[in-house]
Amino acid sequence: MDTVITAGRVLPRPSAPVEDGAVLVRDGVIVAAGPRADVVAQAGPDAVRHDFPTGTALAGLFNVHVHLAFDASREMLAHFSESDDLLEGARSRLTSMLRSGVTTVRDLGDRGHLGAAVRRSFAGEVAPRLLVSGPPITVPGGHCHFFGGEVSSDDEIRALIDANAAAGADVIKVMASGGQITEGGADMWESQFDARQLSLVVAHAATHGLPVAAHAHGADAIEAAVEAGVSTVEHCSFLTGPRSSDRRDAVAAKMAADGISACSTSSRNWRVIVEKLGDEVAQAMYGRLPWLEEHGVRLLSGTDAGLPGSVFDDPVGALELYEWLGFPRRRILEIATEDSAAGLGLGSVTGRLEAGLTADVLVVEGDPLASLSALRNPLLVLAQGREA
Ligand SMILES: [Zn+2]
Repeated sequence: MDTVITAGRVLPRPSAPVEDGAVLVRDGVIVAAGPRADVVAQAGPDAVRHDFPTGTALAGLFNVHVHLAFDASREMLAHFSESDDLLEGARSRLTSMLRSGVTTVRDLGDRGHLGAAVRRSFAGEVAPRLLVSGPPITVPGGHCHFFGGEVSSDDEIRALIDANAAAGADVIKVMASGGQITEGGADMWESQFDARQLSLVVAHAATHGLPVAAHAHGADAIEAAVEAGVSTVEHCSFLTGPRSSDRRDAVAAKMAADGISACSTSSRNWRVIVEKLGDEVAQAMYGRLPWLEEHGVRLLSGTDAGLPGSVFDDPVGALELYEWLGFPRRRILEIATEDSAAGLGLGSVTGRLEAGLTADVLVVEGDPLASLSALRNPLLVLAQGREA
C-alpha cells in the first residue's frame, strides 16, 4: 500500500528545499521525495493521500542522548531509586518523544537493561527507533554508579561489555569523567579511566561490532577518549576545573579527522542558564559548540532528557540554543536529522527523505527554515512508515 504525503515544502535535506513537494512511502520505505508531480506519478492508484498545503515535510528528528529511566523532575534520582518498575514511565516518555516529532532515540544509561525492555515492549506498536547502551561503565562509587555498571578491573570491563551486548546494546557507554548528578566520586573535570582502559573499552566493544559513547566533561578525559577512538563524545565540555576550561584545538581537529562526533546534551534548560549567569558567561560556556563547528566536528542533537527540567517532548526548545549561538536554521535542522543519523552510523538508514531510506517523516505547520518554532506544530509523524 502506498502513502503519498504532499506538502507546501519538502526538505529531502535541509540544504535542498523543494516547494510544492511530495513524499511517496511504500512498505515503510521512501520510494521518492521531491517535486509533487514527479512523486505523485509514481504512486499506485489506491494510494492513501495526506495533503498539507501549508506544511513542511522533513526527516524525523533525533535525540541521541536520553535517559528513559529518569522522569525529568527535580526528584528524578529519588524516584528512580525508589521505583522497582520503571517500564511504564519509560514507555510513556518514549511515546511523548514520538508525538513531538522525534523518530530516533538513543538511551545512554539505564538500570537492568530497561531500554532493551522498552524496545521489546513496543514490538508491533508504533514507536521511535530506540538505540540503547544499558548500564554505563563506571568506577566503584563513580558517576552514575546507581545504574549498576561499576567495574574495578580489565576483566570486569570486558564482562560488562559482554553482558550489555548480550542484552541487546547498540552502543557501549563509558563514563570517562565525573559528572554532575552523582554525589561523591570524581568531579566533572576529573578522569575516571585512563587512556589504556578507554582503549580496552573501544577494542572490546569492537569485538561485538559496537561503537563507544564516552561521557566526558573533562578536557583530559575527552582527549583520552578521542585517542582511544570512541565514536561520540557526550557533553564535550573541556573542563579543567569548576570554572575553567581548555578547548584543545588539536583534539577537535582529531575528532573532525577521525569522524568522532560531539553531543552537547543541551536541553531547553539553556534559557535558565542564560538568565542565571548572564549572556556573557553563557556564551562562553556554550561557545564550545560554534568552536567545534568551526573545527568541522560533527554535532549531534541530544538533550540528556530525564535530568531535572530536561523534558522529553520539547526538542525545539533545545535546538533554539543553536539559533541563539548564531547557527543558521539550515544547519540546525541538519544537526537534528542527517548529521545525527551519520554520527550514529545510521546515515544509510534514516535522517533524510531519500529513496531507499526508512520512512521516518515529520510534517509540521509552517516552515522551520523560516522559524524553528514551526517544529512545535507536528501535523503528521511517520516512524518507520507507520503513523504515530
Ligand atoms: Zn546522560
